[in-house]
Amino acid sequence: MKFRRNPLPRRLVDVLCFLTIVVVIPLGILYDFIFVLPAYHQPGGYAYAFTVLTVLFMFLNGIANLIACMIVDTSVDQERVVLYSNGDVEPLNWRHCAICDKLAPPRSWHCKACGVCILKRDHHCMFTGCCIGHLNYRYFVCFVFYLFVLSAHLLVYNSIHLKSFFSLLTIFHFWTDPWGMLHKHLLSLNVLLFVITSITLVYNVPKMLRGRVCTECKASQKYNCGVNYNLKNIFGQQMYIAWLSPLIKSQLPDDGYTWKSKSVDDKLK
Ligand SMILES: [Zn+2]
Ligand SMILES: [Zn+2]
Repeated sequence: MKFRRNPLPRRLVDVLCFLTIVVVIPLGILYDFIFVLPAYHQPGGYAYAFTVLTVLFMFLNGIANLIACMIVDTSVDQERVVLYSNGDVEPLNWRHCAICDKLAPPRSWHCKACGVCILKRDHHCMFTGCCIGHLNYRYFVCFVFYLFVLSAHLLVYNSIHLKSFFSLLTIFHFWTDPWGMLHKHLLSLNVLLFVITSITLVYNVPKMLRGRVCTECKASQKYNCGVNYNLKNIFGQQMYIAWLSPLIKSQLPDDGYTWKSKSVDDKLK
């Protein structure tokens, strides 16, 4: 597996989204630990410690998946392209990328922000500042999943203050009640994080089950090789435990250059 030389976000919008994740969320969690959880559990008690450890596990796992997503290089490796194009057999369904001026394998697309062709490109993610493709899709999904569970978990604890979310228009009370306003803003970010991660999962899960990416036509069933194989092509051979940590190695069945497709299967039958 190759790693990106400069994984930090480059576009301004990517930098701002990335900072929202790595700065604002930890501040919100700290606020909840100090001001919200003590309303439910005695600080220092087992219930308090268990809740803190659960929240930390979800947050740290989410951040670890975010880092993995950013550092894993899922762009087309030109050395592999040369090997394929010099082979005895002409690469099937390959196309010519006019921007890179090189051959590109099936399911790869060029990203203007990243400046390279991406293997099985899904989309360019503003929060990670990189493209989501064949080799880092697993980390992206786990990153979103852990943030979704984390935001849902914190929302339950914040629910006693939820009514204040609907009175955000009292923003002008900032000078008279700064702590109250801070809580309302953190609560609104909690709700926002829950909504964004929910929508992202609702949009991505059906695609994952059908073995498809954003750039492929909705009607395309060419690479839909069954739910089990489709999920293995995202989470790898160890898919039942791979979601527990980005450090768990899990080999993908397809290499990103040649693909098992439904039509090939049909021919074999
Ligand atoms: Zn390209
Ligand atoms: Zn990109």
